[in-house]
Amino acid sequence: MTAYAYLLAANKYVLPTSKVQCEFHILRKLVTPKREIVQTVRTAQDRKRFAKVANRVLSAIENGMVYPQPSWMCSDCAYSDACKAW
Ligand code: SF4
Repeated sequence: MTAYAYLLAANKYVLPTSKVQCEFHILRKLVTPKREIVQTVRTAQDRKRFAKVANRVLSAIENGMVYPQPSWMCSDCAYSDACKAW
């Protein structure tokens, strides 16, 4: 959600210091399906921190600092063979 808020600010849809009101619309697969709305806010400080983290990750990748971080996502990952061989 912070990435979306960052893009809104970067493309001048919100003022640089404005908060962005966000909503997750969650469709729950229950016996009777149910939609839940979870509201959250992203501040300019959140966006600034996101940009800092994203830039550091990009810099790490560009410098070859990539290593496996096993998790539940590995079973569906296109890079799982490369990771096993790492
Ligand atoms: S297999 Fe995919 S998800 Fe798992 S650590 Fe490697 S890159 Fe990450």
